[in-house]
Amino acid sequence: MKPLAIRISEKKNLIIQFDEGGNLQIELSFLRRCCPCASCSEQRESQSKNYIPLFFADQIKVKNIYEVGNYAIGITWRDGHNTGIYEFPYLKFLAQSNNAV
Ligand SMILES: [Zn+2]
Repeated sequence: MKPLAIRISEKKNLIIQFDEGGNLQIELSFLRRCCPCASCSEQRESQSKNYIPLFFADQIKVKNIYEVGNYAIGITWRDGHNTGIYEFPYLKFLAQSNNAV
């Protein structure tokens, strides 16, 4: 599982093309909401399932995407948040959940 191309489409979707075929598409707001870093996970756990988070524009805009080893990508958001490391299987899971909504 190796990404061939990573891009942002229409400023609101992350699209990753993998070598094994198939594109993965995730809305940036959903991606931010599911940030796997420790502080975001902690925050999510303290919220009820019905809680709908509100984000400022800069929190759901991507400033930079970088590869982490060959198993994940890291995202720097426009508001400076950059501790979320998204492993590929997690991204696949998010893409599936996102499309199911
Ligand atoms: Zn986070």
